[in-house]
Amino acid sequence: MPRYAYVNGRYLPHDAAGVHIEDRGFQFADGVYEVVTIQGGRLVDEAGHLDRLGRSLGELRLAWPMDRPVLQQVMRQLIRRNRVRDGIIYLQITRGTAARDFRFPEAATPTLVMTTRRMNLDPARQVAAGVDVVTIPDIRWKRRDIKSVALLAQVLGKQQAAEAGAFEAWQIDEEGMVTEGCSSNAWIVTGDGRLVTRDASTMILNGITRQSILRLAAEQGLQFEERAFTVDEARRAREAFLSSATTYVMPVTRIDGRPVADGKPGPLSRKLRESYRSYAVGAGAS
Ligand code: PMP
Repeated sequence: MPRYAYVNGRYLPHDAAGVHIEDRGFQFADGVYEVVTIQGGRLVDEAGHLDRLGRSLGELRLAWPMDRPVLQQVMRQLIRRNRVRDGIIYLQITRGTAARDFRFPEAATPTLVMTTRRMNLDPARQVAAGVDVVTIPDIRWKRRDIKSVALLAQVLGKQQAAEAGAFEAWQIDEEGMVTEGCSSNAWIVTGDGRLVTRDASTMILNGITRQSILRLAAEQGLQFEERAFTVDEARRAREAFLSSATTYVMPVTRIDGRPVADGKPGPLSRKLRESYRSYAVGAGAS
């Protein structure tokens, strides 16, 4: 079955799809993106992801390439054409194609690209065992709240994690505090059972999954704190996990090769994974 990509108004065979060599996304990483999970053919947390896309665009002073409802129709059309039941849809918007000059071009039409990918959203063995993370210095720029396509630090970080046999790298700021993973938010459960994740600021990307988990936790009357924590606190935590659109809640059972607590996924991580999964196919689906 052919797989299609959406590129500036056209549905093209994935292998033949492309943008111009002077696209500012390619030249300067002058663009933003979103990843929305598709579960059972429906989008998970769509409104949150599109709200964040609007915010990222605004921070770059980019306009929506088309009205939001039309964009949502295109997303659905591409998902239908590619017959995706479980996976992701990736959206990227750049400032468009123009002669290479740092300043904004006077007239350039934004580039809009969408692709889909099928994915197993329930990697049972991984969830049962939990995943390893390594810690690395956070060398990124200071506007991590923008979902920018400038991901070089994350590319290097993920490669380092992979070479160490780990799933993710948790980035550490200059004060020794965990900011977040390279493509996920970081969480711990303290000795007295409190859920902790870093507060939303320009230091992290405010995950849409993170926000939904916090909402679900509040609904369930769980105690949580949005604050920074050190690597040492994470190592001594009762549980740790990470969150993102594609991993949902993923237990973290080793940090830098050392087990977290007994080295098994903890009860709160498992419970929150289940809560988020129910939400993803229920109230969070559209
Ligand atoms: N932080 C970073 C740096 C990310 O790239 C991602 C994934 N986009 C997240 C956190 C998690 O965000 P979300 O839950 O919206 O996928």
